[in-house]
Amino acid sequence: MQTVWVLGDQLNRRIGALADADPATCRVLMVESIAKVTSKRWHRQRAHFVIASMRRFADELTDAGFTVDYRRADSLRDGFRAHVAEFDPDEVVATEPASYDGLEMLRELEVAVVRSNQFLCHYEDFAVWADGKKSFKMEDFYRQQRKRLGYLMNDDGEPGGGRWNFDDENREPPPKGDANPWADPQTSQLDDVDRQVITDLEAAADEHGGELWGAEPDGTWATSRRAALARLKHFVDNVLPQFGPHEDAMVERSWHLAHSVLSPYMNIGLLMPDEVCDAVQDAYDRGDVAINSAEGFIRQVIGWREYVWGVYWLWMPDYRSANALGADRPLPPAFTGAASTQMNCVSNCVETLHDKAYNHHIQRLMVLGNLSMLHGVDPWAMTEWMWSNFIDGAEWVMLPNVIGMSQWADGGKMATKPYAAGGNYIDKMSDYCKPCRFDRKKRTGDDACPFTTLYWDFLARHHDRFVKNPRIARQVRASEKLSDLPAVRERAVEVRRLLDSGEL
Ligand code: SF4
Repeated sequence: MQTVWVLGDQLNRRIGALADADPATCRVLMVESIAKVTSKRWHRQRAHFVIASMRRFADELTDAGFTVDYRRADSLRDGFRAHVAEFDPDEVVATEPASYDGLEMLRELEVAVVRSNQFLCHYEDFAVWADGKKSFKMEDFYRQQRKRLGYLMNDDGEPGGGRWNFDDENREPPPKGDANPWADPQTSQLDDVDRQVITDLEAAADEHGGELWGAEPDGTWATSRRAALARLKHFVDNVLPQFGPHEDAMVERSWHLAHSVLSPYMNIGLLMPDEVCDAVQDAYDRGDVAINSAEGFIRQVIGWREYVWGVYWLWMPDYRSANALGADRPLPPAFTGAASTQMNCVSNCVETLHDKAYNHHIQRLMVLGNLSMLHGVDPWAMTEWMWSNFIDGAEWVMLPNVIGMSQWADGGKMATKPYAAGGNYIDKMSDYCKPCRFDRKKRTGDDACPFTTLYWDFLARHHDRFVKNPRIARQVRASEKLSDLPAVRERAVEVRRLLDSGEL
């Protein structure tokens, strides 16, 4: 009998090796690895999300007639070896994993690997597209995906709405006042499966020296395909019409705004990217959503998400150690929860992360990522922290987004400029600064905004590297002209010390 080994982020009957599997001729193996659970300081909701989804998927397969060997083992390798020793399968097959190390492991264990269909562009096809290009821009890749896949395309081959990109309609600052027009995400009641997973995770951490962080699961995140499909319908019916205009805004009164919060489901297989895009295309065809909402969302899925996936495979394994700016500081205690912070923007993001295992992309990029780069945090430490704390974290997601996009650690292979900004940008796009004890306009003094101080210091510190970069040269030259630059740089030294000690 054949064994199909299903990994924890392949939880869908349509995926790879499972797509053609016949319950009469194959058995399914699933392994919960204690080494994995204790390998990082996981957010409780992240760890629960994966394990609860695995257990429910095993039940779903059993209900469909499969024999499922569901094991808890010290490691994935141990679980695999124990399964082979017990059942002596004719062959073990698995779908290509989403991580470089996972693929190495399967090769080492001589598991037959089936091509992954969890993305709409396989990474080998992405490599063919990228081959020979001097720079491969996400926008070019995205347009090619639109044409190839047919989303939001007119019959004459032109893009729907007459343009490829409606980004300029999707960068509005937050609405003034207390307006909170964004529909709440659906939630689920916790059940016995959830409660058992929570108990098991705490016990595994206690027994094996692991550490968990963050609030307990509260039903925000779906852990079954049925519930994930309901979340998708809720998004399309109630949230998608609002998606777009405030994509880049940050407000204290809403942790989700009109973000889909569907990425975790796509990243572990509960939803497939084509069915998510099909649902959005259908809503657009019915006239239920404007083109800027539909296009902005489709671009995130078939553009950015697939681009990041392709880039990960193209540049691994060296990409992990990229550190072009020589950043080597540890994570600030304000990020990890080891210290509170008076920076209102950081405090709001970390509080949301603690409660929901989630921040949206601008909070990740322009608050947490921005401060990390300005401060000089080691990019791999930042990658691992985001990977273990965000509900949708995975190495393939976090490496390009952190190393390439937010920390400029790859020296500009991915982002043509560093995403550095002072307090002014955060003030424009959020309601964080008004109640903050720091003054976003000040760059020196005890009440100077740390972002503003470190921003000017960053431009001065990396002057020679960026002065010829057309996308940031103007700001670098402006830093040369600051009359108080010596005082700014002196204040930056103090800000760094306070960030490191958790006193800011
Ligand atoms: S003033 Fe500075 S630290 Fe305070 S919220 Fe604004 S950007 Fe953040």
